[in-house]
Amino acid sequence: MTQRIQSIVIVGGGTAGWLTAGIIAARHQGRMQAGFTVTLIESPNVPIIGVGEGTWPTLRSSLQKMGVSETEFFRHCNAAFKQGASFARWTTGADDDAYYHPLMLPQGFTQVNLAPHWLGEHSGRTFCEAVCPQGRLCDDGLAPKMITTPEYQAVANYAYHLDAGKFAGFLQQHCTAKLGVRHVLADVTKVNQSEQGDIRSVDTQQAGEISGDLFVDCTGFAALLLGKTLGVPFKDCGDVLFCDAALALQVPYETPDTPMASHTISTAQSAGWIWDIGLPTRRGTGYVYSTRHSTDDEAHDTLMRYLGPQHAHLTPRKIPIRSGHRATFWKNNCVAIGLAAGFLEPLESSAIVLTELSAKLIAEQLPANREVMDIVAARFNDVTHYRWGRIIDFLKLHYVLTQRTDSAFWKDNVDPGTIPDRLKNLLHLWKYQSPWFFDEFDRLEEVFPAASYQYVLYGMGFRTEVAPGDNVGTRTLAAKLMNDNVAMTRQLRSQLPKNRDLMKKIFEYGLQPI
Ligand SMILES: Cc1cc2nc3c(=O)[nH]c(=O)nc-3n(C[C@H](O)[C@H](O)[C@H](O)COP(=O)(O)OP(=O)(O)OC[C@H]3O[C@@H](n4cnc5c(N)ncnc54)[C@H](O)[C@@H]3O)c2cc1C
Repeated sequence: MTQRIQSIVIVGGGTAGWLTAGIIAARHQGRMQAGFTVTLIESPNVPIIGVGEGTWPTLRSSLQKMGVSETEFFRHCNAAFKQGASFARWTTGADDDAYYHPLMLPQGFTQVNLAPHWLGEHSGRTFCEAVCPQGRLCDDGLAPKMITTPEYQAVANYAYHLDAGKFAGFLQQHCTAKLGVRHVLADVTKVNQSEQGDIRSVDTQQAGEISGDLFVDCTGFAALLLGKTLGVPFKDCGDVLFCDAALALQVPYETPDTPMASHTISTAQSAGWIWDIGLPTRRGTGYVYSTRHSTDDEAHDTLMRYLGPQHAHLTPRKIPIRSGHRATFWKNNCVAIGLAAGFLEPLESSAIVLTELSAKLIAEQLPANREVMDIVAARFNDVTHYRWGRIIDFLKLHYVLTQRTDSAFWKDNVDPGTIPDRLKNLLHLWKYQSPWFFDEFDRLEEVFPAASYQYVLYGMGFRTEVAPGDNVGTRTLAAKLMNDNVAMTRQLRSQLPKNRDLMKKIFEYGLQPI
């Protein structure tokens, strides 16, 4: 019980497995000489899911801490910039119905909440346009930085779009060559437990028995360790988030110079929504839909109509989704990360960021020995439950604010019985006060900060009542910040290169390493 935790065994070699391996190994490099090991076991027969192309800005610091060159990452993962997402047809379904959820915070976000000022005095422009330049940068197809901006640094905040299959391979190469992660290509056939229920070892078909002190279940939807072996049940969220299938399709560009959006384009349909992601050599697209509200054939037709007749020969791949998560994430000496922990739906790219945050929490809080592991596990479960709950609220927010009544999917989504109580309360509160720092957004490393809620709420036409006189004290500062935003938008639009042009330069010359 008091022996040091020295050997971490990760089962699964998808995005979750390799990110976890890299984050833990990078954090504990100093202990490697003293016998600390990170082993990743990956089946040569079970393929990774190979989707998951939208990320969150946290990935920049995760990769940087792992010692990854950003230029090499762009080149090997067919990666590109992501400056947020646009949401078309989510509110009314009309042709001109669109708003942005950018990755930049509103101007002066830590000094003053601009939302009440925009609501009271400046609502001639969209909220996003009034408070931050990024929507206009996306409209213009601009990159978030210049070729002279060093690796990982931003002019406008950004995350990435990437090729999920290539990303796992790239991380594998980096983790094994640079961080000392041991890679075992083998099928886990049996999980061996001690009398107390801890996992002692796993039997593999190709590499015999592998033992460890802490096991990380990254086996994807199979959840072989935490779900199947330790029997932690799955908590279904399908009554809140209805989408339970996706048709994914990679779409070639017409020419190599076709402009490439630097944001995810999310277009609502009658039974779900379509994602459209621009990578340097292709687009990644897919229709996420509810099988209760659409047949697979209807979904197929919807996706193909969106893509146009020139892509009619392509065949999408169907991926079933079970929206939900494990009832607990760390039990005994086993913790689940990635799809093994759960999955809600692709909206707002919340899965990979949750993997990063979970891996970071394990790396930072790694229990010294088995005796204190349950204390760390309880903390981990508390934080992770909170995060899943907040993400469910945030995703549902996109659906409950709709005014669409053109299909059962949208009508069912606003049924109060499908809205979590916490979200209901917040929506009630936000009628009278705009979300900002004090609005429960008090946890360190909140996945979606108050600014994200503001962009979605006001982008979708929600209005907060501003008390007369409430803005007087900060009116001058708010007006200055909004004017600064106009000037900054003008400057960035004249300064930043086109997204496609910058990607070409990065592929050719690279960014300056820092
Ligand atoms: C349609 C769709 C769209 C998505 N879009 C996004 C997005 O835009 N952004 C985002 O953040 N996330 C997205 N996700 C989620 C994202 O794909 C996953 O979070 C991510 O790929 C991590 O997957 P994973 O590593 O947990 O699982 P997987 O990729 O499934 O990997 C599982 C691993 O476990 C191994 N394994 C399984 N059984 C065994 C065994 N018995 N022995 C040994 N090894 C075994 C497999 O070989 C594999 O290596 C999306 C998911 C779906 C379904």
